Amino acid sequence: MSLRVAVIGAGPAGIYASDLLLRNENHDVSVDLFEQMPAPFGLIRYGVAPDHPRIKGIVRSLHRVLDKPNLRLLGNIEVGKDITIEELQERYDAIVISTGAVRDRELTIPGGETSIGAGEFVGFYDGNPRFERDWNLEAREVAVIGVGNVALDISRILAKTGEELLVTEIPDNVYASLKNNKAETVHMFGRRGPAQAKFTPKELRELDESDTIQVLVDPEDIDYDTQSEQLRRADKSVDLVCQVLEQYAMREPDGAPHKIHIHFFEEPVEVLTEGDKVVGIRTERQQLDGEGGIRGTGKFTDWPAQQVYHAIGYRSEPIEGVPFDLERNVIPNDGGHVLDGAQLVDSLYVTGWIKRGPVGLIGNTKSDAKETIDMLFADAEAGKLSAPAVADPDEILNLLEKRGITYTTWDGWYRLDEIERALGEKCDLNPRERKKIVEWEEMVRHAQA
Ligand code: NAP
Repeated sequence: MSLRVAVIGAGPAGIYASDLLLRNENHDVSVDLFEQMPAPFGLIRYGVAPDHPRIKGIVRSLHRVLDKPNLRLLGNIEVGKDITIEELQERYDAIVISTGAVRDRELTIPGGETSIGAGEFVGFYDGNPRFERDWNLEAREVAVIGVGNVALDISRILAKTGEELLVTEIPDNVYASLKNNKAETVHMFGRRGPAQAKFTPKELRELDESDTIQVLVDPEDIDYDTQSEQLRRADKSVDLVCQVLEQYAMREPDGAPHKIHIHFFEEPVEVLTEGDKVVGIRTERQQLDGEGGIRGTGKFTDWPAQQVYHAIGYRSEPIEGVPFDLERNVIPNDGGHVLDGAQLVDSLYVTGWIKRGPVGLIGNTKSDAKETIDMLFADAEAGKLSAPAVADPDEILNLLEKRGITYTTWDGWYRLDEIERALGEKCDLNPRERKKIVEWEEMVRHAQA
């Protein structure tokens, strides 16, 4: 059977789904991979911290998928705006949505509106053209709410020196801001205990690898109840995280100019302000309730901080014309097949963070994509996919051109990639593998069809 599939979102989730579609030996599949940004790779390019080259290296395997002859990348196109879902349904046998989760969850405590979402800062330091170009880094004391891997990323970037990051692909504007960063102390706050932290062990160890950073934990915060002990026994990763935190708790402060304090059992209850200035954060001491939850003790502490960030999870955004669960911030689905109420929506599938929520490492996205694509093929074989009304695969390009939408392509990415690599090589300050281009129009100019 011959199938034309539109995959929306060229991050890891969309690329893994495309790979599975194209690997299938029983069907002749072609994929158009739509992407909102002018460049592909989603979270790898715009979510992974610049000093994590190991994770960024995943791009190499994703590259091999995009090189496949039956795949067309169509970048700089916002589905739901530039082209509707109905228009795609008329042109493809099936649609797979993989737009991820890029917005920050809201912090709803008093003063929470003055706290900066981690995703905003990530967007800045990863050179995402949609985010701020200058960043205020005047605060000497910074608070970070949340004890997950994103909290680790932003705390590490806040505590490192600009020079340490100059070996990475950060653009000039990011280096210019980071080299004037005044932060000396970063306080990270977890509302539950060490066994409930969402860190992964490797990333937690990496926090302490810089000579300019010392990570500290108050020994009083190392506490486990019976449920925590069970968690440690059941999950090696939880146990390793606890071991690393225990090591951090045994230290005396040394001469490192930047300190990261990880606090547990402190639930942020208010961001303290004077006029429009942030001056601190108030937390309430918590106790574990024996079931993984917490109860307040009524003991409050005010911590000085001139800037507060919240790294409390990301959320997906709805797409015009597609059902959306506003409470869970995902597209409702049954194993990857989109649901509208109790009804399956013909030919519409979903994978990645917008399917299951923003949890799990990049690798987890593979099994997720398999479930979705297996279901898509099963539906195709059961005759549940109806042939598209528009048969010509190039008609979509005419439609985009007719609308005046400049789209970018995979060949275009090769050009942009080459230019970014050349910029990195001839960087006066420090030659490196790549220097990212941040201007949207400039990216489009290099990468357009
Ligand atoms: P996360 O792992 O879900 O962590 C969110 C943290 O925020 C938790 O500690 C949570 O505490 C806390 N939190 C949530 N609501 C809160 C509130 N109202 N007040 C105080 N604290 C609150 O989310 P994430 O850090 O955004 O990471 C998302 C995914 O990306 C994870 O799977 C992560 O591993 C992955 N990631 C991986 C890397 C890497 O380098 N490998 C880097 C970045 C992200 P509770 O548990 O108490 O709710």
